[in-house]
Amino acid sequence: MEKHMTVCPYCGAGCKFNLLVENGQVVGAEGLDGITNQGELCLKGMSGYDFINDTKILTPRILHPMIRRTKGAELERVSWDEALDFTAKKLLEIKEKHGADAILTTGSSRGPGNEANYVMQKFTRACIGTNNIDNCARTCHGPSVIGLIDTVGSGAMSVSIPNMENADCIMLFGYNPSASHPIVARRIVKAKERGAKIIVADPRIIETARIADIYMQINNGCNLAFVNAFANVIVSEGLMDKKFVEEHTSGFEAWWETVKNYTPEAVQDITGVDPETLRAAARMYATAGGSIIGWGMGVTQQCQGVHTVHQIAAIACVSGQIGRDNAGLAPVRGQNNVQGSCDMGMWPSLYPGYQKVADPAMRSKFAKAWGVSEDSLSLSEGCKLTDLPHLVKEGKIRAFYNFGEDPLQTEPDSIDMRETLENVEFLISQDIFMTQTTALADVVFPGTSWGEHDGVFSASDRTFQRFTAAVPPKGECKHDWQIFQELSTRMGYPMHYDDTKQIWDEVRELCPSFQGATYEKMAGVGYAQWPIPEVGHPGTPTLYQGGQFNMPDGKALLMTTDWKAPTELPDEEYPLILCTVREVGHYSCRSMTGNCKVLALLADEPGYVTINPADAEKRGIKDQDLVWVHSRRGKVISRAAIDERTNKGTVYMTYQWWIGKCNTLTMHATDPLSGTPEDKHSACQVDAI
Ligand code: SF4
Repeated sequence: MEKHMTVCPYCGAGCKFNLLVENGQVVGAEGLDGITNQGELCLKGMSGYDFINDTKILTPRILHPMIRRTKGAELERVSWDEALDFTAKKLLEIKEKHGADAILTTGSSRGPGNEANYVMQKFTRACIGTNNIDNCARTCHGPSVIGLIDTVGSGAMSVSIPNMENADCIMLFGYNPSASHPIVARRIVKAKERGAKIIVADPRIIETARIADIYMQINNGCNLAFVNAFANVIVSEGLMDKKFVEEHTSGFEAWWETVKNYTPEAVQDITGVDPETLRAAARMYATAGGSIIGWGMGVTQQCQGVHTVHQIAAIACVSGQIGRDNAGLAPVRGQNNVQGSCDMGMWPSLYPGYQKVADPAMRSKFAKAWGVSEDSLSLSEGCKLTDLPHLVKEGKIRAFYNFGEDPLQTEPDSIDMRETLENVEFLISQDIFMTQTTALADVVFPGTSWGEHDGVFSASDRTFQRFTAAVPPKGECKHDWQIFQELSTRMGYPMHYDDTKQIWDEVRELCPSFQGATYEKMAGVGYAQWPIPEVGHPGTPTLYQGGQFNMPDGKALLMTTDWKAPTELPDEEYPLILCTVREVGHYSCRSMTGNCKVLALLADEPGYVTINPADAEKRGIKDQDLVWVHSRRGKVISRAAIDERTNKGTVYMTYQWWIGKCNTLTMHATDPLSGTPEDKHSACQVDAI
């Protein structure tokens, strides 16, 4: 049996393991002593490999290129030459007629890796000539990236996942690690066993709430009021680290002007939290030796996601719980390489390595490196993925190049998204499976799958790790970076890389924070945690050591604002709140995990809707009954899961099911500062069938 070292493609924890190969088929996984997982794997890591073998459980692998010659025609199999020529001609026509900004591309935060994403953004910027490039972080942790850059200067975790085990207090806020990152949840359990205090603030009684020292069942949609009150207690009760605030922060006076109004009592009706419990939690957090706040999409997929992240950063700063080992900020990323997509500049305002497109010096540097004129690289921020529906309606986006994502499954208001994808003039989709989005495409490019190519992933805590091919590409599939460079060459901007190492060395050369992250350093179970500014540098497990923030004056900026209510509130017609969540055994749009034998056993469509017993009884619904869930956007069939851990007045659905798709119901309202959808708060009704 052959063994091939890889990194898990299912979450930002970055667990390392061997793929086991027999007779050309991937037949198993065995955990390695990686920096995060120390030999352990969760259900997905252990059982999520055999989609590579083209099991056809949910949908077959795409094994050859296809084109649709005219809208409404069938997709037909063609040669690579014909598919690439057809695509290059059409993109050039659109660019000529409507300008480069009429084209939007995406990165893939899943299997392809950093090298493919780097080449995609280079193709978008240097060949097409636009900053219209985005990735799924827009839908998930976009507010963390923006909110942390605003306040502390870097949009990533300030601590390491392994550090979490050594913290004295961990507060989880709108974050369910048992479902999202089971190996991170293991670290939290180990911290608890060591004596750490655990605080959980979540509307649902999530698994980690069971080991919490303090659990606060906050109301859905209260986040900013809650963190404002938390900050109020820290200052009012004299728990503030005055020296740290004076020496390492700015903006205290303006910040306090807002925070002073948010006593726990004043906002109890909004938060739903007993003031004494909130005070006890703030004391526990602020006085612990080292405290870490972990948050997830319960924080970010809200209409005030960025503002809430501003305040989370401020809480860490005013408490002095940042800038030293085992204390800091942990926005734990969902998809396995969403950190990498951001690292590689799949973001409309940033080049790779978080270098701003609006900075003329950066433009000059990238223009020189890529051999293009400065004028051809735009200084303007591009559009966002969540702008796609209205930009297509307005005729501003004519071509959409979808790479390794399925927005028709994962973006809100999927009826509107279907209309968008059907109406965009030219839709390219590059994937390994015939997803719902790919089925609508005018061009289908088959990329190689994780397990068939090499590359580097970025774990959520800024850790680069290498993964390697275990089996050869299936059918006519090409590596994603090969597809981009061949298309680019046909469009008049030649690119030629022989392998991923050449690409990665170019990334290192252009990104000061990544320069020491050589393939050699990442050999075996090796890793490189950025910033790693030179070869031989050990990497940086903890950001902002000594209170040195990545801000122009070196100081963290304290920011917050007033709470406002979510966009769509329950009413007589739609009296329940719908909140989207994750299923532990499945990943993203489910195209990968739904094609794995063991994981597919968990997939009994339609999906389920969890509902509190009182809400179910009121509607005459029994456990496992089929029910209708409907909202102002649409109606789906689902299966009721009566659950005491679900708070009254709210129902929860995972977004991964094809039948019973909850994004049929969600609303396309976004946080104005990040463009991230408010997936955690739509009004709905559930009826017995
Ligand atoms: Fe994979 Fe995440 Fe599970 Fe680790 S915790 S095995 S990275 S899904």
